[in-house]
Amino acid sequence: MTMFDGDFTRRRMIAVGGGVAAAGLLVQGAAALGQSTGPAATGKPMPDGVDLPANPPATVQPGSVGFAIIGLGDYALKQIMPRFAQSGRAHIAAIVSGNPAKLKQVGDAYGVPESARYSYDSFAQIATNPAVEAVYIILPTGLHAEWAERAFAAGKHVLCEKPMALSGAECERMIAASQRANRKLMIAYRCHFEPYNMAAMALMEDDAVGALRLIRTEHSYRMGPTTPSENWRVSRALAGGGPLEDYGIYGLQAALYLSGEMPESISAATYRPANDPRFAEIFAHVSAQLRFPSGATAHVVTSYDSAGLNMVEARGTEGVLKMQPATNYGGNTLTLEAGRNRQELTPGDSEVQFARQLDHLASAIRDNTPIITPGEMGLRDLRLIEAIYASAASGQTVRLNPDATMRR
Ligand code: NAD
Repeated sequence: MTMFDGDFTRRRMIAVGGGVAAAGLLVQGAAALGQSTGPAATGKPMPDGVDLPANPPATVQPGSVGFAIIGLGDYALKQIMPRFAQSGRAHIAAIVSGNPAKLKQVGDAYGVPESARYSYDSFAQIATNPAVEAVYIILPTGLHAEWAERAFAAGKHVLCEKPMALSGAECERMIAASQRANRKLMIAYRCHFEPYNMAAMALMEDDAVGALRLIRTEHSYRMGPTTPSENWRVSRALAGGGPLEDYGIYGLQAALYLSGEMPESISAATYRPANDPRFAEIFAHVSAQLRFPSGATAHVVTSYDSAGLNMVEARGTEGVLKMQPATNYGGNTLTLEAGRNRQELTPGDSEVQFARQLDHLASAIRDNTPIITPGEMGLRDLRLIEAIYASAASGQTVRLNPDATMRR
């Protein structure tokens, strides 16, 4: 049995999680490309639409795990930091930013002591702050590996945003650093904690569509005009190949957790229009076909340049499961159609996914419970992404080992 056999099938994820309900060819680490991986630009204004709390949280629950938030960008400020209020086991104990004005404004709003507001340069001092047990990395992807290594060197556990890093090699470095430090590493794959996706996993586990034949996923939107110097999401050094790592990864994940299988081969195509500054360094579209040992296939599509769509569909011999939107922060839908029956399921509030994710790492730290989205899962996905780019670059089908490494 390899480390992937069964480990990340839907069977195991449900069993463990039920309680809480390039790639080598294209992508290289930023350092390898000779670009700075150092601290971020300073002096950036707060993202639009940020609502800071009017009053800092009053108390910290006994036993709650203190998190340092590194990277005070859009996702951290609008989605993650406000959701700590719904967590019973996690609280914000420190913040890290290159922008002193933001450190003050956000630190005051969340009641973070001045001594626990770090710049990227002073980050190493976090090692001596016992109130911080975990670091949540919410930086551009090209900085994840470096800052995970720094957090482990400081003796902290790590929750790292998706995608885990830019390459399998970077993921392996992060896992090794976690093992050396004897600290936990979790990837923030929030859909594993989201009621609609969890219900879809359970339905597929119960063979609700019969024998699986086809999974289709699409995660697309049309990006406005931008350039790599303005927006890290179109910079190869910070974002890898682009939409697949950023958005299509949700569809890739869904294909695996709904099928419960690892693909044995992948064939893929990429597209990049000429003379479009958005796609000077990254792809505009990626389309991949995965073939599973059962004979089922998955078609995973993602784009930064087509009309918005967020959908997942699993079609079997007896019915079809449809989700649209499938992987949003809220408002997801889930329909099961079998013969003449059509059932719309409403398994719960999608927004609980954020706090459940925080609580999951807190439980792993406090109670030594297993992490259902560990670094090994992030590594698996980066290997699959590398295989997708390798297939697209060569025009050949790529055959895979069970651990998602490419067969030579
Ligand atoms: P963002 O651009 O809004 O924020 C990035 C933050 O990193 C900013 O505070 C910026 O100042 C800082 N930074 C540090 N060094 C930088 C550098 N060299 N270049 C640019 N910025 C730098 O991005 P975001 O949307 O908040 O994304 C951050 C991470 O969160 C990414 O890994 C992304 O994939 C992830 N994310 C996850 C979800 C999800 O649903 N799980 C959603 C959005 C983003």
